[in-house]
Amino acid sequence: MIKPGSTIGIIGGGQLGRMMALAAKEAGFRIIVLDPVPDCPCAQVADGQITAPYDDEAALRALGERCDVLTYEFENIDYKTLKKATGFAHVPQGAELIRITQNRIFEKEAVAKAGVRVAPYRVVENAADLKEAVAEIGYPCILKTARGGYDGKGQITLRHEGDFNETDPLLAHGACVLEKMIPFTKELSVIITRNEAGETSLFPVVENIHHNHILHQTIAPARVENTVKKEAEQLALKVAEQLHLTGTLAVEMFLEADGTLYVNELAPRPHNSGHYSIEACSISQFGQHIRAICNWPLRKVELLKPAVMVNLLGQHVERALTQIPYQPEWSVHLYGKKEAKFQRKMGHVTVLTEEIEETLLSLEQSGVWQD
Ligand code: ADP
Ligand code: MG
Repeated sequence: MIKPGSTIGIIGGGQLGRMMALAAKEAGFRIIVLDPVPDCPCAQVADGQITAPYDDEAALRALGERCDVLTYEFENIDYKTLKKATGFAHVPQGAELIRITQNRIFEKEAVAKAGVRVAPYRVVENAADLKEAVAEIGYPCILKTARGGYDGKGQITLRHEGDFNETDPLLAHGACVLEKMIPFTKELSVIITRNEAGETSLFPVVENIHHNHILHQTIAPARVENTVKKEAEQLALKVAEQLHLTGTLAVEMFLEADGTLYVNELAPRPHNSGHYSIEACSISQFGQHIRAICNWPLRKVELLKPAVMVNLLGQHVERALTQIPYQPEWSVHLYGKKEAKFQRKMGHVTVLTEEIEETLLSLEQSGVWQD
């Protein structure tokens, strides 16, 4: 067990690292973050920063020397460097989870191996492959880069042959997957945590609404039947088992009208759709993650009150600030990012509520999220 007073090293200094650090500080841990950007969101609440790229082996070595345990806040770190780090530092999550989840092809193979459904897909390496794959999958379909995509970046929806004009940059980026567009009725996600001792906990199944492929809103709990929730939890457990999970895994899913569930994507870390847990659950996804990597017993997760979480993107921040005096029920989280760029995740708002529909309406009427 890693004890309070020990130092946790976090690779990546964005909002997820920041919220992990805030959770860890509660128990008296010290935090050092590795990130190339000085004064990044995590550094603002950490005890120290090593300012260097994530694949800088010397920097990772220095981090390992100063820390008792290492974790990461995102999957696009260099696998080979992380793998090396497992040799000189304590990395309870290992490197294998990163190898798999940073490549959509490996990820889909792992999910399928766990006996869980994914959208029909084909691996595509070039224009000829793409043509063949579209002929098999049919329109509409989505081309996604196997590596490096996030928030809808590195994706193109194909509805007819004309859309092929835009696929070159994606194919130039490397291998891609072409997948069938699933006519989902809802997007769901489940966050699962496992500690080194093999204890597992699940956060409630939540409902996610995306705008322009970026998460906009999370509703906890999901407004679906209990049988769907049970199945979603079972899928998450199967995938976590297949991946020998230690740490946190977010499982994104599509739900079709007939109840069929598909796993869309995995994230080997706390997830935007779990931010509501900070206020709404008996422990936050960040607190539970820290317990898992420090091999503490996991807290029993309970939803204390239903909640709605809405993201604040660059274009929303100014308007959100003007609402603070009128919205005492809003928990406003801002991540300390310097530039409020369009579509950039700057913060989020969580509202605890027994009246989800009313709250959704009132959030809409605030005018903050009008694009
Ligand atoms: P990322 O989150 O890395 O940008 P995702 O694969 O999760 O990539 O895609 C982002 C969003 O785009 C999804 O949450 C969903 O709203 C939409 N989307 C992605 N793939 C599909 C699909 N096969 N069918 C329907 N919608 C999809
Ligand atoms: Mg996603």
